[in-house]
Amino acid sequence: MANINIKINGMEVSAPAGSTILEAARLAHIEIPTLCYLKEINEIGACRICVVEVKGARSLVASCVYPINEGMEVFTNTPKVLKSRKRTLQLILSNHDRRCLSCVRSGDCELQKLCKDLGVEDESLYDGEKGIYELDESAAHMVRDNNKCILCRRCSAVCSQTQGIGVIGANERGFKTNIGSAFEMGLGETSCVSCGQCIAVCPTGALYEKDSVDEVLEAIADPEKFVFVQTAPAVRAGLGEAFGLPIGTNVEGQMIAALRRVGFDKVFDTNFSADLTIMEEATEFLDRVQNGGVLPLITSCSPGWIKYCEHYFPEMTENLSSCKSPQQMFGAIAKTYYAKKLGIDPEKMVSVSIMPCTAKKFELGRDDQSAAGVPDVDYSLTVRELARLIDKVGLNFLSLPEEQFDNPLGISTGAAVIFGATGGVMEAALRTAVWKLTGENNDSPIEFTEVRGVQGIKEATFHVAGMDVNVAVASGLSNARELLLKVKSGEANYHFIEIMGCPGGCVNGGGQPQVPASIRNFTDIRALRAKVLYDADAANPVRKSHENKAVMKLYEEFLGAPGSHKAHDILHTTYVKRTIN
Ligand code: SF4
Ligand code: SF4
Ligand code: SF4
Repeated sequence: MANINIKINGMEVSAPAGSTILEAARLAHIEIPTLCYLKEINEIGACRICVVEVKGARSLVASCVYPINEGMEVFTNTPKVLKSRKRTLQLILSNHDRRCLSCVRSGDCELQKLCKDLGVEDESLYDGEKGIYELDESAAHMVRDNNKCILCRRCSAVCSQTQGIGVIGANERGFKTNIGSAFEMGLGETSCVSCGQCIAVCPTGALYEKDSVDEVLEAIADPEKFVFVQTAPAVRAGLGEAFGLPIGTNVEGQMIAALRRVGFDKVFDTNFSADLTIMEEATEFLDRVQNGGVLPLITSCSPGWIKYCEHYFPEMTENLSSCKSPQQMFGAIAKTYYAKKLGIDPEKMVSVSIMPCTAKKFELGRDDQSAAGVPDVDYSLTVRELARLIDKVGLNFLSLPEEQFDNPLGISTGAAVIFGATGGVMEAALRTAVWKLTGENNDSPIEFTEVRGVQGIKEATFHVAGMDVNVAVASGLSNARELLLKVKSGEANYHFIEIMGCPGGCVNGGGQPQVPASIRNFTDIRALRAKVLYDADAANPVRKSHENKAVMKLYEEFLGAPGSHKAHDILHTTYVKRTIN
């Protein structure tokens, strides 16, 4: 595509035809602040923060939607521009609950940062009537606080476009405009799937997860309780960002050290139960292939995806693997096998998980998730909650040493750690399924790079033991929908599908640290975080789940074989058919 030459602040800039002023400025390392803009998702030019002067234009223009043309002269920082941005912020603040001191987003709020950067000290200049809204606490995973909403519409754009769901949007008009669900329903009454992608993109404290930090600290302080914690693969790839480390830093060792100092009795790894999931899921897959079961088999690790399937494709719940998610498998094994080994009453155990996900908060309350007669998992914290917990107890995260997980539920393989990236569960399952299909050949392949990468949909065929195994991987629920429609119409014929609710998989989960749009719009955070996991896999001397010695011992001592009756009782679950609200 031909380039177009313009001038920005007197500098010559050349950018591809079709670029907006914002994109062209970015190429020249000139930052223009934004608030509502989310690249390719919410390009509506509504908030007016990104306004700039264009020579010859009668008024300021929104740079996020204004296309460049040859010879254009743009000015991004004139007094007129700065005054306009400041006034826009003052108007936003006039109808905003400005209690920053107690706000969950204070310190990483995009509105707060803009006000500071632009020197908005007289925030009450335009004060008048204010909209007063009740908190929406009806959903299991999150709270909506419209008193802090600035109507940027990033949340509704992500929900409807990226996730193809659309359970939130603008209600009413004019001064009464507010974000909510149809017919004023609480979010918990809708077919929201709890993915938290709306929270991840909200620039303010209007959307946040339900916080269980205090309950966890109370349990830790109770001498009668044995409190253990598991951490999902993608947590180690995201947590460092909450403490200022670059995106793509592995903080596994410091994370373990922090959890130990917080006071958990044992610090374990969800990677252990990711390996266990592969043992069960690969067995289920081979059983369905060899005995004419329902195909394609679809993975069940992502609770946002499971809820989506139940609401939007209820006719396909038979395709779902009956395996509980690794979070739930972990809690189930800890409160049965491990409790028995240690002689602890499961009633006295408190099972905590750290997840890059908000849907896990919904999942732990599902039916059929209590192998020992008590919940498999009691509390699920997001990575953001863990960062707040670490701050709350006064730990200096960056000064912590690197420590190791406790055993045996901290032992894992390279196959497990890649669960956090789209395609990772598929690759891990293939490592074990192909090993089995080729007669337990230890030279079977390790890497299946065809299913790696951040594309929304990936397809591959592997020729194994005389048969073609067709697989597909989707992440983000709009992509999942596209794939499932192909399956339903008969256009595609897969044997095995991996679906993750969040685009890019758990590395980009709705519970990961907040990344401002100024970075999110121009950096592929999914690829940077995923690299952490693939590097950890490559560095692990054991890279196939069936070679996890602690998992093998669990089968020998307790479960019998993969897919056994006992394994089914403890590690598998059922699904429900829901409606769309
Ligand atoms: S949303 Fe931002 S500006 Fe508003 S109270 Fe919270 S931190 Fe302050
Ligand atoms: S809830 Fe957050 S993302 Fe949604 S419109 Fe309000 S401020 Fe924007
Ligand atoms: S949690 Fe997911 S499904 Fe629910 S409102 Fe937010 S983006 Fe939509």
